[in-house]
Amino acid sequence: MEAKKIRRTFIDFFEKKKHHYVPSSPIVVKNDPTLMFTNAGMNQFKDAFLGNEEPKFPRVANSQKCLRVSGKHNDLEEVGVDTYHHTMFEMLGNWSFGDYFKKEAIAWAWELLTEVYGLDKDRLYVSVFEGDESDNLSMDKEAFDFWKEIVPEERIIMGSKKDNFWEMGETGPCGPCSEIHIDLRPDEEREQVPGNELVNMDHEQVIEIWNLVFMQFNRLSDGSLKNLPARHVDTGMGFERLVRAIQNKSSNYDTDLFSPFLKALEEKSGKKYGVDEQTDIAFRVIVDHIRAISFTIADGQLPSNNKAGYVIRRILRRAVRYGYTFLGFTSPFLYELCDLISENFGDIFPEVRLQKDFISKVIFEEESSFLRTLDNGLKRLDQIKAELSSKGEKVIPGEVAFELYDTFGFPLDLTSLIARESRLSLDEKGFEKEMEIQKTRSRAASEQEMGDWVSLRPDTGVEFIGYDFLEAKCHIIKYRTV
Ligand code: ATP
Ligand code: MG
Ligand code: MG
Ligand code: MG
Repeated sequence: MEAKKIRRTFIDFFEKKKHHYVPSSPIVVKNDPTLMFTNAGMNQFKDAFLGNEEPKFPRVANSQKCLRVSGKHNDLEEVGVDTYHHTMFEMLGNWSFGDYFKKEAIAWAWELLTEVYGLDKDRLYVSVFEGDESDNLSMDKEAFDFWKEIVPEERIIMGSKKDNFWEMGETGPCGPCSEIHIDLRPDEEREQVPGNELVNMDHEQVIEIWNLVFMQFNRLSDGSLKNLPARHVDTGMGFERLVRAIQNKSSNYDTDLFSPFLKALEEKSGKKYGVDEQTDIAFRVIVDHIRAISFTIADGQLPSNNKAGYVIRRILRRAVRYGYTFLGFTSPFLYELCDLISENFGDIFPEVRLQKDFISKVIFEEESSFLRTLDNGLKRLDQIKAELSSKGEKVIPGEVAFELYDTFGFPLDLTSLIARESRLSLDEKGFEKEMEIQKTRSRAASEQEMGDWVSLRPDTGVEFIGYDFLEAKCHIIKYRTV
């Protein structure tokens, strides 16, 4: 089954169960100071769960664009190294606002996975909250009993508070959850494991696909838990992981969600995917990052020097550097992948199709700008590495990381990544100190500025400063959802 059909089937399935389909909210969060990017399907329903807003429908379903690169959920370091954590991914979800609860949520999840998608029942495991004494919480017997009706008991795993109890924040709605995991190891490998029912959940082919959260408590500010007057269901399933399971692949990147991108990159670079591990990581990082960058720009967030904009710039520069070092791209290449984003995701997310040329132009400008300093920055870093090695030292000093940041546009996490590749570490505190010094310096300078005109130093060659025009254009091209 193709990815597009898999997504459609999810929505159809829940529509048949009287759910209302709601489009994805933007990936960039503009009205919540506690969150920069949407990181779960439930974000757009937060107010309904908090009781601040009357839900428009008792049951909804959607496919939400999520980004997990900052704050509580930051998967950036995993991306490309493993085969199932992405920066940007789609989270399929179904919700009940005070309507159905555990019984239906569990039965429907199972029905969809096994009967509609035809996943092998023997490969599925579920987890149930085991309880927590410190919080006076007993095990989620209700969920356990519903699961027991459909899954052999040895496939129900008890999970701790860390994995199986969800909380919105310090206070507010919370409750136990049940996760569904799938064991995608080849048959031969599974048979070699004695007592296969005690599956090793940490194996890279045993992955979590769906999380069913049952909100039934409210955490008060004194830490105590009260029963919620209305109980809710909030589920989230990683679409790319589901597609991988259905298409029976050993990596999300081998599904039709990513393979057109890998193919295009192979053609452009002349290198093959699947030959060398380090090159493969570069391939995976780039085809992952281009999605995050494109979707975020489509939602109105341009790369910039602070906050959400800097997160995007960091991701983009990370991709450029992977392409430069491991795939041999010395000129802009990412922007050319925008056509594929539009082709593959334009139906469900029309904003990427409508703004294709704009997205591609922004990426091109960013890439060009960073490529102008990347080579010199890397040479400078090589020099530092040689110096450190001659002294037998292993830590890149804060001043050097700051110089790379300030003069060559290297985000700290990029320098840190390159350092790790050479088995070096980085003095982050030293970097922060340099950053503070610079801020104080520029504050002092701006206090002295008297005239109307500030001269921009043209010699740094680091910052692309053509965004006024682009930014204006971005406001004109309004984002639309259907
Ligand atoms: P994991 O333990 O694998 O990091 P999670 O427990 O952090 O996942 P949840 O917050 O429960 O994930 O999100 C619901 C679902 O979203 C997960 O079951 C998984 O299928 C998917 N998911 C979570 N993080 C990612 C990611 N970075 N990339 C792709 N899918 C993800
Ligand atoms: Mg996680
Ligand atoms: Mg998990
Ligand atoms: Mg989870």
